Parts: sequence; structure tokens; C-alpha cells
Amino acid sequence: MLIAFSLAVSQRNAIDRDTNAFLTEQHIADQIVALTYRQQLEAFRFVDRHDEARMREFRDLGDEVYSQMRRYLFHELSAAARLHVERMKELHQGFEVVAQRVFDLAQRGQSDSARRRLADLDQRAESLDAAVEQFLTARREQRSALQLRHEEVSRRVGLGFATAGALMFVLLVLLAGYLRRRVLGPLDALAAAAGRLGAGDLDARVAPQRYAEFDEMAAGFNRMADSVQSARETMEAQNEEIRQTLDHLQQAQAELVQHEKLSAMGQMLAGLAHELNNPLAGVLGMAELIRAELAESPDADARAMATTLAEPLEREALRARSLVRNLLSFARRPSGVVEPVDLTAAVSTALGLCAHSFAQAGKTLRVELRPHLRVMADAQKLQHAIVNVVNNALDAVIAADGRGLTIVGAPTGRHMVRIDFDDDGTGFADPQSALLPFYTTKAAGKGTGLGLSLVEQFVNEFGGTVTVSNRSEGGARVSLLLRASEGIEVARDGAARGIALPATHREAAPSAAAGGDSDAAAPIRPRVLVVDDEPTLRLIQHRLLTNAGMEVVLAANGAEARDALVREPFDLVISDLRMPGEMDGRDLLAWLAQERPALAARSLLLTGDMGGVASVPLPVPMDRVVPKPFSSAEYVKRVRQALGAMQK
Ligand code: ADP
Repeated sequence: MLIAFSLAVSQRNAIDRDTNAFLTEQHIADQIVALTYRQQLEAFRFVDRHDEARMREFRDLGDEVYSQMRRYLFHELSAAARLHVERMKELHQGFEVVAQRVFDLAQRGQSDSARRRLADLDQRAESLDAAVEQFLTARREQRSALQLRHEEVSRRVGLGFATAGALMFVLLVLLAGYLRRRVLGPLDALAAAAGRLGAGDLDARVAPQRYAEFDEMAAGFNRMADSVQSARETMEAQNEEIRQTLDHLQQAQAELVQHEKLSAMGQMLAGLAHELNNPLAGVLGMAELIRAELAESPDADARAMATTLAEPLEREALRARSLVRNLLSFARRPSGVVEPVDLTAAVSTALGLCAHSFAQAGKTLRVELRPHLRVMADAQKLQHAIVNVVNNALDAVIAADGRGLTIVGAPTGRHMVRIDFDDDGTGFADPQSALLPFYTTKAAGKGTGLGLSLVEQFVNEFGGTVTVSNRSEGGARVSLLLRASEGIEVARDGAARGIALPATHREAAPSAAAGGDSDAAAPIRPRVLVVDDEPTLRLIQHRLLTNAGMEVVLAANGAEARDALVREPFDLVISDLRMPGEMDGRDLLAWLAQERPALAARSLLLTGDMGGVASVPLPVPMDRVVPKPFSSAEYVKRVRQALGAMQK
């Protein structure tokens, strides 16, 4: 192709060169013809007038003609053209020979012969002219041949170019097809998969490719899609975790708000309950005294009043006391004392307080407990919780005229113990609300709505949970799920055992007040110092202790008591905790611990705040604290116990 192209180019150059040469040759030819005719003219003039200068001019012109003819010889001429040049030379020589004869004849004065020769000269000049023309014709033919050759070459080169172009086109089409298959196909697949991935389809993958580079690209894309997918999954899992954490936080916040509300309300209730304790202690004590005095009256009417008037008064005062205790328990913060407790003993003690009411109402109370169950709890609170649940069940069973209550306790899982209280009473009107504080369906004065929320509060403190529900066969179920005590394997296979229930209600049979075994060691007529700022309570205590055969000295505050203690001997000091003035019960006991350690060690402390409001630890152990309001029997029993300790 390149060769053809360069051939065409050189052909073109040759034509250009030849054209230039031809133009020169035409010019030379014109010169030759013109010079020859000028020579002829000089010869004609010489005939008319012999002039040597003309003859020299004739020769110079002849030399010029020869030199022009010699220029032809430098040109590339065909053989025919060269022949024509030779012919032109010969004709010019012939022309000059004839001219020389003309000159000779003219010089010799033979002008007529010379003129006749001039005609011959004219003819020879025309012959030369014709020869020049022939030379040019031969050259034109030569040029035409060259031109034809060039056109042929150009045509062939053009054809070559066209063929080559067509070939190139076909090649390009083939190449494009190949590229499409090899490059664009895989790229399209990759772009489509990337588009799907971008639109959120994380399953978008590229199939394995035929060519290694694209296969590697596809594998790379698939790896990237895998990691995007796993990143998305991780992100979704983290989102879920955050959502759950947020839920928990919101729940915790709601609980906190609720807890804060309850605790503020609890504080208020506790303050109120605490303030109620002193007057209540007075009412209860007075009611008991009045009942006791009337019961011993010789007058039958007065004795009857003991039952008809004093007893209801005392009962109502006891009810008020239990309400106030509940309020105080509700407001109390967790004590933190959670220890292994024998469940059978706790249930038995609690039922001792309720069994009498069941018997009186003609309702059954069945207990099935696996033996040796020990749970993590505060024994007192657990008993309290059980009493609450059992009393609620009794109310519901009486209201629905049901048969009674069954308590079933058994281990569940490896570390928990579950106690179900199943009754066939009315069932819960709204199980969702039953655990809320102050939710009650009972008549005003009968329910406070604090029982079950206290149960839940206690059980939660033990690390357990409470659930309430209605049984499909009718009635309610309250379940306590408690932690089994650690280190003690829960007995799984032991048979459930019924508990022997006490025959009577304890409060209804205050045997200790009548003289239990605890007073066996008391002094014959003990001297007791009673310190209380409330005149009514001083009066009640004085009466109770005097009736119990003791000698009583009263003091209205700590300072008075200290003076009495300095003055005279005492077997026992019973002091109120909170008293106005320079010395309250705490100060008095501190002083006593310094001055009379033995007496201080058995002294009793009266308080209406069992760790609820003050939240400051009491200055004596719990077994020497008498909570207000107290029943006469409890009070006298505790005093006798303290005096009994004196003898040990
Ligand atoms: P209270 O007994 O003072 O009303 P509780 O918190 O102990 O307060 O009980 C709340 C409410 O739950 C009761 O008023 C009663 O409607 C319902 N309830 C509790 N125990 C039972 C039960 N065993 N059967 C049916 N309802 C019950």
C-alpha cells in the first residue's frame, strides 16, 4: 500500500518534472526557430548590402542556435525525440551551408545567384521549423504516455486504497464485535449488578466470567457486595440493639419516674403514719384498759359493755394499726437483709395469723409444700407478703361463696422456688392493675390497695417476681417466684407435705399477757422507769405495769428520767425514742450506757418509726424495740421478757 502510494507520488513528481522540462524545451524550440529566422533575415540583408558585421551577427546567432540545441541533450528524451534533435542539427547545418553559399555569391558580386539561393535558404529554415515542430510533437506524445501511465498508477493506487479501506472496515466491524463480546458484555453485567446493589438489592452478584481479568473483577465485585451485605446486617443488628437499649432506657426512665413519684408519696404517707402512731397507741391502750377494767367490774352491765363497746373500739384501733403499719412498710426502703429462710416455717407462721379467719368463715385452707425448701428472703417481710395474699384470697372466696384456698410450693428450674396461691373466689376484676399501689375494688375502709404492691415490693427486694392471673376453672392465682437459697440444693423429689395449722388466731389468744414462761425469772416487784412525753401513753403504761404487779415511776422527758435514775435504783427503763427537750430517748440510752451499762443493756425503746422515716439506725437491737401502737399483751410480754433477762 505504502509502495503504491510512493509510486503514485514519484509518478506525479516525474510528470511535474517533465512538464517543466517540456515548457523549457518549448521555449528552446521557440528560441531556435526565432534565432534561425533572424539568421535568415541577416542573410537576406547581406545580399542587398555586403556588410561584414551582418555576417558576424549571422554566425553569433548560429552559435546561439547550437548552444540552445545542446541544452536539449541535458534533458531526458526518448529515442525518437533525440532523433528529431539530431535532425534539427542536420537541418540547421544545411541551412548554414546554404547561407554560406549565399554570402560567398554575394561577396563575389553574383547577387542574382545569391538571391536564388535565398529561396533555398527560406525552404531550409521552414524545414528546420517543421523539424522543431515534430520534435515538440514527439515530446508531447512522450508526455501523454507518461500521463497515461500516471493515471493508471493512480487508478490502481485508488483501487488499492478502496480495497484496503473496505478491508479495514470489515476488520473494524469484527474487532468491535469481539470487543463487545469480550469487554462490553462483562462490563454491562458488572454495571447492572452495581445498579441493583446501589438500589438496595444486596443479593446482586455477577456470574463467573470467561476471561480471567473480568472474572477477577466479578469476584472482586462479589466480595465487595458480600462485605456490604454483612456490614448492612451488622448495622441492622446494631440498630436493633440500640432500639432495644432505647426501649429499656425509656422503660427504666418510666419506672424511675414512677418510683420517684411513689417514693415521694411514700415519704408523705410515712410521715403521716408515723404521726398517727402516738395517738393510735393511746386509743388502743385506752380501749384495752377500758375493756379490762369493765370486764373485771362486779356490775353485770359494765361487764356487758366490755364486749359491746370496748371490744369493737379495740378491734377498730387494731385495724387502724395494721393500716398504719402497711403504710409504713410501703414507704420503707429495702432493708437489704436477704438471707436463706425456711419456706415451710414462714408459711406456717403467716398462716397462724389467718387460719382462724378461714375457720370462722368456714373456708378451707390447704397447703402442699415440698419439704426443705429454703428461699432467699427477709423472714418478716415474707410472712407479711403471705398474710396479705392469703387475706385477699379469703375476701375473694367469701365474696364468691367459694370453697377456699390452696397453697402449692415447689422448686422450678435449678435455682427458683414457686409458690402458687390458687383460690376459687371472684377472680381478679383487672389483673393488670392489681399490683399497682392504691388499686382496690374493696369498699372504702376495707381496702387500701397497698397489699399486693407491698407483696411485689418485698418479693422484688428478694430478687423474685410476682404474677397474678385468673384461673381458667374460676378464681385467682397469685404466684411468687423466689430464689432458692444458694448452696442448698432444692429438694426436687420430696413429696409435698401439708402443714399443721395453729388452731387459733394469735392476737385473739394473747396467752403471753396472761403470764407465759417468760416472766418466770422476773423480780418479785420490779421497779420500772417509764419515759414518755405523751401523757396518755404514760398513763396507759403505768396502768398496764401496775396491773402486772410492778412499781412504776414516770418521767416526761430524758432529763427528768436522768434525774430519777441518779436519785433511785430501777430494774428496767422503758423510753420513748422521740421526745422534745434537751435529751431524747437516744440521748438517754447513750447516757445510760455510760453510767449503768447493765441497765442500758436490757432497756426497752418505744418507737412509732420502725426504720421508715428516720432511716437512722436505732440505738438498740430489734429485740428491745417495742413498736407503737402496741397491744397490752405484747407490751407486758416484752417488759416481762426484758426483766427475765435481768436474772440470766
Ligand atoms: P386491697 O386488698 O387493700 O384492695 P391489694 O393490693 O391487696 O389491696 O389488692 C388489690 C386488689 O386486687 C383488690 O382490691 C382486689 O380487687 C384484687 N385482688 C387481690 N387478690 C385477689 C384475689 N385473690 N381474688 C380476686 N381479686 C383479688
